[in-house]
Amino acid sequence: MKILVINAGSSSLKYQFMDSDTHEVYAKGLCERIGIDGRLTHKVPGREDFKSDVPMPTHGEAIQSVLDALTSAEHGVVSNVSEIDAVGHRVLHGGMAFTESCIINDACIAAIEECIPLGPLHNPANLMGIRACQKIMPNTPQVAVFDTAFHMTMPEKAYTYAIPYEYYEKDKVRRYGFHGTSHRYVSARCADMLGKPAKDLKIITCHLGNGSSLAAVKGGKCVDTTMGLGPLAGFPMGTRSGDIDATILEYLMGRYGYDIKEMLNILNKKSGVLGISGVSSDFRDIGAAAEAGNHRAQLALDVFYYSVKKYIGAYAAALGGVDAIVFTAGVGENDASARMAIASGLEYMGVKMDPDANNIRGKEAVISAPDSKVQVLLIPTNEELMIAQDTAELVRGR
Ligand code: AMP
Repeated sequence: MKILVINAGSSSLKYQFMDSDTHEVYAKGLCERIGIDGRLTHKVPGREDFKSDVPMPTHGEAIQSVLDALTSAEHGVVSNVSEIDAVGHRVLHGGMAFTESCIINDACIAAIEECIPLGPLHNPANLMGIRACQKIMPNTPQVAVFDTAFHMTMPEKAYTYAIPYEYYEKDKVRRYGFHGTSHRYVSARCADMLGKPAKDLKIITCHLGNGSSLAAVKGGKCVDTTMGLGPLAGFPMGTRSGDIDATILEYLMGRYGYDIKEMLNILNKKSGVLGISGVSSDFRDIGAAAEAGNHRAQLALDVFYYSVKKYIGAYAAALGGVDAIVFTAGVGENDASARMAIASGLEYMGVKMDPDANNIRGKEAVISAPDSKVQVLLIPTNEELMIAQDTAELVRGR
Protein backbone atom coordinates (compact mmCIF):
# COMPACT_ATOMS: atom_id res chain seq x y z
CA MET A 1 0.00 0.00 0.00
CA LYS A 2 1.11 3.55 -0.70
CA ILE A 3 1.16 5.37 2.62
CA LEU A 4 1.83 9.01 3.43
CA VAL A 5 3.48 9.22 6.86
CA ILE A 6 3.08 12.55 8.64
CA ASN A 7 4.93 13.83 11.70
CA ALA A 8 3.40 17.20 12.52
CA GLY A 9 5.11 19.57 14.95
CA SER A 10 3.91 22.99 16.05
CA SER A 11 5.70 24.89 13.25
CA SER A 12 7.05 22.06 11.11
CA LEU A 13 5.76 18.93 9.41
CA LYS A 14 7.87 16.02 8.20
CA TYR A 15 6.49 13.58 5.67
CA GLN A 16 7.47 10.41 3.91
CA PHE A 17 5.53 8.76 1.11
CA MET A 18 6.33 5.09 0.87
CA ASP A 19 5.22 1.59 0.01
CA SER A 20 4.47 -0.34 3.20
CA ASP A 21 5.10 -3.71 1.48
CA THR A 22 8.24 -3.10 -0.60
CA HIS A 23 9.54 -0.39 1.81
CA GLU A 24 10.35 1.81 -1.20
CA VAL A 25 10.41 5.50 -0.30
CA TYR A 26 8.95 7.48 -3.19
CA ALA A 27 9.44 10.93 -1.68
CA LYS A 28 10.02 12.65 1.62
CA GLY A 29 10.38 16.16 2.88
CA LEU A 30 9.75 18.88 5.35
CA CYS A 31 7.49 21.90 5.76
CA GLU A 32 9.06 24.53 7.98
CA ARG A 33 8.00 27.87 9.46
CA ILE A 34 4.29 27.00 9.49
CA GLY A 35 2.39 29.97 10.93
CA ILE A 36 5.32 32.30 10.12
CA ASP A 37 5.82 32.20 6.35
CA GLY A 38 6.41 28.69 5.01
CA ARG A 39 9.12 26.66 3.28
CA LEU A 40 8.87 23.27 1.62
CA THR A 41 11.80 20.93 0.98
CA HIS A 42 10.76 17.95 -1.14
CA LYS A 43 13.13 15.09 -1.93
CA VAL A 44 12.68 12.34 -4.48
CA PRO A 45 15.43 9.70 -4.64
CA GLY A 46 17.62 10.17 -7.70
CA ARG A 47 16.30 13.67 -8.38
CA GLU A 48 17.45 17.11 -7.28
CA ASP A 49 15.82 18.42 -4.09
CA PHE A 50 12.93 20.79 -4.69
CA LYS A 51 12.74 23.81 -2.37
CA SER A 52 9.99 26.36 -2.44
CA ASP A 53 8.70 29.22 -0.32
CA VAL A 54 4.98 28.53 0.03
CA PRO A 55 2.75 30.57 2.36
CA MET A 56 1.72 28.24 5.23
CA PRO A 57 -0.44 30.20 7.66
CA THR A 58 -1.73 26.87 9.04
CA HIS A 59 -1.04 23.13 8.81
CA GLY A 60 -3.76 23.02 6.12
CA GLU A 61 -1.61 24.89 3.61
CA ALA A 62 1.41 22.80 4.63
CA ILE A 63 -0.43 19.54 3.87
CA GLN A 64 -1.74 21.03 0.61
CA SER A 65 1.81 21.95 -0.43
CA VAL A 66 2.94 18.36 0.29
CA LEU A 67 0.10 16.97 -1.85
CA ASP A 68 0.89 19.50 -4.60
CA ALA A 69 4.54 18.41 -4.58
CA LEU A 70 3.63 14.69 -4.59
CA THR A 71 1.31 15.16 -7.59
CA SER A 72 3.26 17.86 -9.46
CA ALA A 73 4.26 17.11 -13.06
CA GLU A 74 7.86 18.12 -12.34
CA HIS A 75 8.56 16.88 -8.81
CA GLY A 76 5.71 14.47 -8.25
CA VAL A 77 5.63 10.71 -7.80
CA VAL A 78 1.89 10.11 -8.35
CA SER A 79 -0.53 11.65 -10.81
CA ASN A 80 -3.44 11.96 -8.42
CA VAL A 81 -4.00 12.29 -4.66
CA SER A 82 -6.32 9.24 -4.88
CA GLU A 83 -3.17 7.11 -5.37
CA ILE A 84 -2.35 7.74 -1.70
CA ASP A 85 -4.02 4.74 -0.07
CA ALA A 86 -3.85 5.98 3.53
CA VAL A 87 -2.17 8.45 5.87
CA GLY A 88 -0.31 7.43 9.03
CA HIS A 89 0.25 10.08 11.70
CA ARG A 90 2.86 10.02 14.42
CA VAL A 91 1.18 11.09 17.66
CA LEU A 92 3.27 11.74 20.75
CA HIS A 93 1.06 10.93 23.70
CA GLY A 94 -1.58 8.23 23.75
CA GLY A 95 -1.89 8.25 27.55
CA MET A 96 -3.42 5.07 28.94
CA ALA A 97 -6.06 5.04 26.21
CA PHE A 98 -3.86 3.67 23.43
CA THR A 99 -1.94 0.44 23.71
CA GLU A 100 -1.62 0.23 19.95
CA SER A 101 -2.19 2.22 16.76
CA CYS A 102 -5.75 3.06 15.75
CA ILE A 103 -7.86 4.13 12.80
CA ILE A 104 -8.68 7.80 13.20
CA ASN A 105 -12.36 8.44 13.89
CA ASP A 106 -14.21 10.80 16.20
CA ALA A 107 -13.60 8.65 19.28
CA CYS A 108 -9.87 8.41 18.51
CA ILE A 109 -9.63 12.19 18.06
CA ALA A 110 -11.48 12.78 21.33
CA ALA A 111 -9.06 10.45 23.12
CA ILE A 112 -6.02 12.22 21.62
CA GLU A 113 -7.55 15.51 22.76
CA GLU A 114 -7.90 14.10 26.25
CA CYS A 115 -4.16 13.40 26.25
CA ILE A 116 -3.28 17.07 25.55
CA PRO A 117 -2.51 17.83 29.23
CA LEU A 118 0.02 14.95 29.11
CA GLY A 119 1.60 16.07 25.82
CA PRO A 120 0.85 19.79 25.75
CA LEU A 121 3.49 20.70 23.16
CA HIS A 122 3.06 17.85 20.69
CA ASN A 123 -0.50 16.52 20.78
CA PRO A 124 -2.13 19.80 19.62
CA ALA A 125 0.30 19.94 16.68
CA ASN A 126 -0.35 16.27 15.85
CA LEU A 127 -4.08 17.01 15.88
CA MET A 128 -3.60 19.95 13.53
CA GLY A 129 -1.91 17.60 11.06
CA ILE A 130 -4.74 15.06 11.40
CA ARG A 131 -7.48 17.67 10.96
CA ALA A 132 -5.78 19.23 7.96
CA CYS A 133 -5.60 15.82 6.24
CA GLN A 134 -9.23 15.04 7.12
CA LYS A 135 -10.29 18.29 5.48
CA ILE A 136 -8.18 17.99 2.35
CA MET A 137 -8.44 14.20 1.85
CA PRO A 138 -11.80 13.33 3.45
CA ASN A 139 -12.02 9.92 1.78
CA THR A 140 -8.52 8.72 2.59
CA PRO A 141 -8.32 6.53 5.71
CA GLN A 142 -6.01 7.75 8.46
CA VAL A 143 -4.26 6.03 11.32
CA ALA A 144 -2.62 7.35 14.51
CA VAL A 145 0.57 5.69 15.75
CA PHE A 146 1.57 6.63 19.29
CA ASP A 147 5.06 7.13 20.70
CA THR A 148 3.83 5.81 24.03
CA ALA A 149 1.92 2.71 22.88
CA PHE A 150 4.79 0.18 22.84
CA HIS A 151 5.53 0.95 26.50
CA MET A 152 2.02 0.22 27.71
CA THR A 153 3.00 -3.38 28.48
CA MET A 154 5.19 -2.21 31.37
CA PRO A 155 4.19 -3.86 34.63
CA GLU A 156 2.68 -1.77 37.40
CA LYS A 157 5.91 -1.88 39.43
CA ALA A 158 7.81 -0.25 36.53
CA TYR A 159 5.37 2.52 35.74
CA THR A 160 4.28 3.55 39.23
CA TYR A 161 5.90 6.64 40.76
CA ALA A 162 6.41 6.66 44.52
CA ILE A 163 4.18 9.66 45.13
CA PRO A 164 0.67 9.63 46.68
CA TYR A 165 -1.25 7.01 44.71
CA GLU A 166 -4.21 9.32 44.22
CA TYR A 167 -2.18 11.24 41.57
CA TYR A 168 -2.12 8.08 39.51
CA GLU A 169 -5.78 7.30 40.11
CA LYS A 170 -7.11 10.82 39.63
CA ASP A 171 -4.54 12.42 37.34
CA LYS A 172 -2.95 9.49 35.47
CA VAL A 173 0.53 10.39 36.71
CA ARG A 174 2.70 7.39 35.80
CA ARG A 175 5.62 6.44 33.58
CA TYR A 176 4.56 6.38 29.94
CA GLY A 177 7.82 6.48 27.95
CA PHE A 178 8.45 7.68 24.40
CA HIS A 179 10.30 6.66 21.20
CA GLY A 180 8.08 3.57 21.42
CA THR A 181 7.83 3.16 17.66
CA SER A 182 11.63 3.17 17.40
CA HIS A 183 12.11 0.71 20.28
CA ARG A 184 9.47 -1.55 18.76
CA TYR A 185 11.08 -1.45 15.31
CA VAL A 186 14.67 -2.11 16.40
CA SER A 187 13.75 -4.82 18.92
CA ALA A 188 11.78 -6.66 16.21
CA ARG A 189 14.64 -6.24 13.69
CA CYS A 190 17.07 -7.49 16.33
CA ALA A 191 15.11 -10.74 16.65
CA ASP A 192 15.04 -11.05 12.82
CA MET A 193 18.78 -10.43 12.55
CA LEU A 194 19.56 -12.98 15.25
CA GLY A 195 17.18 -15.46 13.64
CA LYS A 196 15.38 -16.07 16.93
CA PRO A 197 11.75 -15.60 17.92
CA ALA A 198 11.22 -12.33 19.81
CA LYS A 199 9.45 -14.28 22.56
CA ASP A 200 12.75 -15.95 23.52
CA LEU A 201 14.82 -12.76 23.74
CA LYS A 202 15.76 -10.21 26.39
CA ILE A 203 16.85 -7.04 24.61
CA ILE A 204 17.99 -3.61 25.76
CA THR A 205 17.32 -1.03 23.05
CA CYS A 206 19.33 2.22 23.23
CA HIS A 207 17.75 5.05 21.23
CA LEU A 208 20.52 7.66 21.44
CA GLY A 209 19.80 10.82 19.48
CA ASN A 210 19.10 14.39 20.40
CA GLY A 211 16.38 12.96 22.61
CA SER A 212 17.38 9.61 24.09
CA SER A 213 15.83 6.69 25.91
CA LEU A 214 16.46 3.05 26.71
CA ALA A 215 13.90 0.27 26.80
CA ALA A 216 14.03 -3.19 28.34
CA VAL A 217 12.21 -5.59 26.02
CA LYS A 218 11.34 -9.12 27.14
CA GLY A 219 9.60 -11.53 24.81
CA GLY A 220 8.89 -8.68 22.36
CA LYS A 221 7.19 -6.57 25.04
CA CYS A 222 8.50 -3.48 26.78
CA VAL A 223 8.95 -4.04 30.51
CA ASP A 224 10.68 -0.76 31.38
CA THR A 225 11.86 2.46 29.80
CA THR A 226 13.78 5.52 30.92
CA MET A 227 11.46 8.36 29.93
CA GLY A 228 8.50 9.06 32.17
CA LEU A 229 5.30 11.09 32.22
CA GLY A 230 7.13 13.32 29.75
CA PRO A 231 10.33 13.08 27.68
CA LEU A 232 12.47 15.00 30.20
CA ALA A 233 13.14 11.89 32.27
CA GLY A 234 15.89 9.27 32.07
CA PHE A 235 19.54 10.04 31.35
CA PRO A 236 21.06 13.32 30.06
CA MET A 237 20.29 14.09 26.41
CA GLY A 238 21.29 16.81 23.90
CA THR A 239 19.60 19.59 25.89
CA ARG A 240 17.47 17.74 28.48
CA SER A 241 18.73 17.02 31.97
CA GLY A 242 17.24 13.57 32.40
CA ASP A 243 16.40 12.54 35.99
CA ILE A 244 17.52 15.02 38.62
CA ASP A 245 16.93 15.49 42.32
CA ALA A 246 13.72 17.57 42.61
CA THR A 247 15.39 19.53 45.43
CA ILE A 248 17.49 21.25 42.74
CA LEU A 249 14.34 22.89 41.38
CA GLU A 250 13.41 24.43 44.71
CA TYR A 251 17.00 25.49 45.35
CA LEU A 252 17.54 27.24 42.00
CA MET A 253 14.03 28.70 41.83
CA GLY A 254 14.62 30.21 45.29
CA ARG A 255 18.06 31.59 44.45
CA TYR A 256 17.22 33.05 41.05
CA GLY A 257 13.48 33.74 41.34
CA TYR A 258 12.65 31.46 38.39
CA ASP A 259 9.06 30.42 37.99
CA ILE A 260 8.32 26.78 37.08
CA LYS A 261 8.16 27.56 33.33
CA GLU A 262 11.62 29.14 33.37
CA MET A 263 12.97 26.27 35.42
CA LEU A 264 11.54 23.65 33.07
CA ASN A 265 12.85 25.58 30.08
CA ILE A 266 16.35 25.33 31.58
CA LEU A 267 15.92 21.59 32.18
CA ASN A 268 14.48 20.96 28.69
CA LYS A 269 16.48 23.30 26.50
CA LYS A 270 19.68 24.32 28.28
CA SER A 271 20.76 21.19 30.10
CA GLY A 272 22.02 17.76 29.04
CA VAL A 273 25.35 17.60 27.22
CA LEU A 274 24.82 21.20 26.08
CA GLY A 275 24.51 22.38 29.65
CA ILE A 276 27.56 20.52 30.89
CA SER A 277 29.83 21.28 27.93
CA GLY A 278 28.67 24.81 27.14
CA VAL A 279 29.71 23.88 23.57
CA SER A 280 26.73 22.40 21.74
CA SER A 281 23.95 19.84 21.96
CA ASP A 282 25.44 18.06 18.94
CA PHE A 283 27.69 15.16 19.85
CA ARG A 284 29.92 15.84 16.83
CA ASP A 285 30.77 19.34 18.12
CA ILE A 286 31.27 18.06 21.65
CA GLY A 287 33.51 15.23 20.42
CA ALA A 288 35.66 17.69 18.46
CA ALA A 289 35.92 20.04 21.46
CA ALA A 290 36.82 17.15 23.76
CA GLU A 291 39.54 16.06 21.37
CA ALA A 292 40.91 19.59 21.37
CA GLY A 293 41.27 19.31 25.16
CA ASN A 294 38.05 20.97 26.38
CA HIS A 295 37.48 19.42 29.82
CA ARG A 296 33.76 20.25 30.05
CA ALA A 297 33.14 18.70 26.64
CA GLN A 298 34.88 15.51 27.75
CA LEU A 299 32.94 15.61 31.03
CA ALA A 300 29.63 15.90 29.12
CA LEU A 301 30.50 12.80 27.09
CA ASP A 302 31.65 10.94 30.19
CA VAL A 303 28.41 11.75 32.05
CA PHE A 304 26.36 10.64 29.04
CA TYR A 305 28.23 7.36 28.52
CA TYR A 306 28.24 6.59 32.25
CA SER A 307 24.51 7.25 32.55
CA VAL A 308 23.63 4.99 29.61
CA LYS A 309 25.92 2.27 30.99
CA LYS A 310 24.20 2.48 34.39
CA TYR A 311 20.78 2.03 32.82
CA ILE A 312 22.03 -0.94 30.80
CA GLY A 313 23.11 -2.53 34.09
CA ALA A 314 19.77 -1.69 35.66
CA TYR A 315 17.83 -3.17 32.76
CA ALA A 316 19.97 -6.32 32.69
CA ALA A 317 18.85 -6.73 36.31
CA ALA A 318 15.22 -5.93 35.45
CA LEU A 319 15.25 -8.48 32.61
CA GLY A 320 17.12 -11.14 34.60
CA GLY A 321 19.89 -11.25 31.98
CA VAL A 322 20.31 -9.90 28.51
CA ASP A 323 20.70 -11.52 25.08
CA ALA A 324 21.22 -8.41 22.99
CA ILE A 325 21.91 -4.69 23.22
CA VAL A 326 20.84 -2.55 20.26
CA PHE A 327 22.14 0.92 19.39
CA THR A 328 20.02 3.23 17.23
CA ALA A 329 19.22 6.91 16.36
CA GLY A 330 21.65 9.71 15.48
CA VAL A 331 24.37 8.97 18.04
CA GLY A 332 23.73 5.23 18.31
CA GLU A 333 23.89 4.75 14.54
CA ASN A 334 26.80 7.06 13.74
CA ASP A 335 29.11 7.38 16.70
CA ALA A 336 31.41 4.35 17.02
CA SER A 337 33.32 5.87 19.94
CA ALA A 338 30.08 6.43 21.89
CA ARG A 339 29.04 2.80 21.37
CA MET A 340 32.49 1.62 22.43
CA ALA A 341 32.60 3.84 25.51
CA ILE A 342 29.16 2.67 26.63
CA ALA A 343 29.75 -1.03 25.99
CA SER A 344 33.26 -1.20 27.39
CA GLY A 345 33.30 -2.14 31.05
CA LEU A 346 30.30 -4.43 30.53
CA GLU A 347 32.54 -7.45 29.94
CA TYR A 348 31.49 -8.78 33.36
CA MET A 349 27.99 -9.33 32.00
CA GLY A 350 29.21 -11.01 28.82
CA VAL A 351 29.56 -8.04 26.46
CA LYS A 352 32.63 -8.17 24.22
CA MET A 353 32.79 -5.62 21.43
CA ASP A 354 34.54 -6.16 18.09
CA PRO A 355 36.31 -2.82 17.40
CA ASP A 356 36.54 -3.52 13.65
CA ALA A 357 32.89 -4.50 13.31
CA ASN A 358 31.97 -1.44 15.38
CA ASN A 359 33.82 0.84 12.98
CA ILE A 360 30.69 1.37 10.90
CA ARG A 361 27.94 3.97 10.45
CA GLY A 362 24.26 3.77 9.69
CA LYS A 363 24.11 0.11 8.63
CA GLU A 364 22.62 -2.95 10.25
CA ALA A 365 25.43 -4.98 11.78
CA VAL A 366 26.42 -7.17 14.70
CA ILE A 367 29.22 -5.21 16.36
CA SER A 368 30.11 -7.57 19.20
CA ALA A 369 32.87 -10.19 18.96
CA PRO A 370 31.88 -13.66 17.72
CA ASP A 371 32.47 -15.08 21.22
CA SER A 372 30.48 -12.34 22.99
CA LYS A 373 27.77 -13.85 25.19
CA VAL A 374 25.61 -10.79 24.65
CA GLN A 375 25.09 -9.75 21.02
CA VAL A 376 25.53 -6.04 20.37
CA LEU A 377 23.85 -4.69 17.26
CA LEU A 378 23.66 -1.47 15.31
CA ILE A 379 20.20 -1.10 13.77
CA PRO A 380 19.18 2.15 12.05
CA THR A 381 15.73 3.03 13.27
CA ASN A 382 12.83 3.39 10.85
CA GLU A 383 9.83 4.86 12.61
CA GLU A 384 8.26 5.85 9.28
CA LEU A 385 8.23 2.25 8.10
CA MET A 386 6.57 1.12 11.34
CA ILE A 387 3.94 3.84 10.98
CA ALA A 388 3.35 2.88 7.33
CA GLN A 389 3.06 -0.82 8.19
CA ASP A 390 0.67 -0.21 11.10
CA THR A 391 -1.40 2.03 8.86
CA ALA A 392 -1.59 -0.54 6.06
CA GLU A 393 -2.46 -3.34 8.47
CA LEU A 394 -5.27 -1.42 10.13
CA VAL A 395 -6.68 -0.11 6.85
CA ARG A 396 -6.60 -3.59 5.28
CA GLY A 397 -8.32 -5.05 8.33
CA ARG A 398 -11.18 -2.53 8.36
P1 AMP B 1 18.46 12.17 16.10
O1 AMP B 1 17.77 12.92 17.18
O2 AMP B 1 18.27 10.70 16.15
O3 AMP B 1 18.25 12.75 14.73
O4 AMP B 1 20.03 12.36 16.39
C1 AMP B 1 20.62 13.63 16.21
C2 AMP B 1 21.96 13.64 16.92
O5 AMP B 1 22.81 12.59 16.40
C3 AMP B 1 22.75 14.91 16.63
O6 AMP B 1 22.42 15.90 17.55
C4 AMP B 1 24.17 14.47 16.79
O7 AMP B 1 24.55 14.74 18.09
C5 AMP B 1 24.16 12.97 16.59
N1 AMP B 1 24.96 12.58 15.44
C6 AMP B 1 24.61 12.52 14.14
N2 AMP B 1 25.64 12.10 13.39
C7 AMP B 1 26.68 11.89 14.22
C8 AMP B 1 28.04 11.46 14.06
N3 AMP B 1 28.54 11.16 12.87
N4 AMP B 1 28.80 11.37 15.18
C9 AMP B 1 28.31 11.68 16.37
N5 AMP B 1 27.04 12.09 16.58
C10 AMP B 1 26.25 12.19 15.54
